[in-house]
Amino acid sequence: MGIYINDKKLDLTGRTFGRLTVIEVDTSITKLKSRQRRWLCNCECGETTTVAGSALKNNQTRSCGCLRKEASAAMGRASRTWSLKHGESKSPEYRSWNAMVNRCLRKGNPAYKFYGALGVLVCSRWLTFEKFLTDMGRRPNLAYSLDRINPRGDYTKENCRWATREQQANNKRNTILVSYKGETYPLRPLARSLGIAPDMVDDRINAGWPVEEALTRPAKVWKLYITYKGEAKSIIEWSKVTGIHNNTIRERLKRGLSPEECLNNWKPS
Ligand SMILES: [Zn+2]
Repeated sequence: MGIYINDKKLDLTGRTFGRLTVIEVDTSITKLKSRQRRWLCNCECGETTTVAGSALKNNQTRSCGCLRKEASAAMGRASRTWSLKHGESKSPEYRSWNAMVNRCLRKGNPAYKFYGALGVLVCSRWLTFEKFLTDMGRRPNLAYSLDRINPRGDYTKENCRWATREQQANNKRNTILVSYKGETYPLRPLARSLGIAPDMVDDRINAGWPVEEALTRPAKVWKLYITYKGEAKSIIEWSKVTGIHNNTIRERLKRGLSPEECLNNWKPS
């Protein structure tokens, strides 16, 4: 997909993408077909499958196929039986559930690119509407809607609540939005979907890296840059310029100080 600079060298062994955990490179297929690496993965459901690296990194493939099957079955089941029987299909809880499943699992959904495509999952328990309703209870009133407590997390009992618009806005304020390849994304889910540690991306952006570079540069060659007065230099370079020990600068950065505070002879009181 051209997102990774060193695609061929990137080792996905042990990494988790949705329900898939990468076991090893599937060399038999790589040699026969293309230069694109394929990876042997274990699925949570117990199946084993082989997936192209790019499909994993872009969250195109997040299970052996069981996820989509379960979602379709759940939607069918819900609309056919219980929910219809109880007139439930018109309830606000059902509509919230339906919208959640769709934006996470249906590629055709307009919101999919902000959810499913970024790796946001619905826990398998919640693929059944009744269980979702049992866990969440009824929506308190019109002012409430389904909200993820950690906006970077999945749709699970632990991470969801009925929240007012105000609560949700507070939550979203903590979400950094970035522009990447011409689209706006919440930073941390985007980092996750690109297979790069969100904390590291946060650190890089705080240190003044351009967004694209912060999201794509492999961790191994990570060199922290600090932009100050229009100049981007590594910690070592800044250390030489300012005479402040590089470990001191690093420590200040970790504490979340601004470049200005990191590079001036500032002492905590
Ligand atoms: Zn599976």
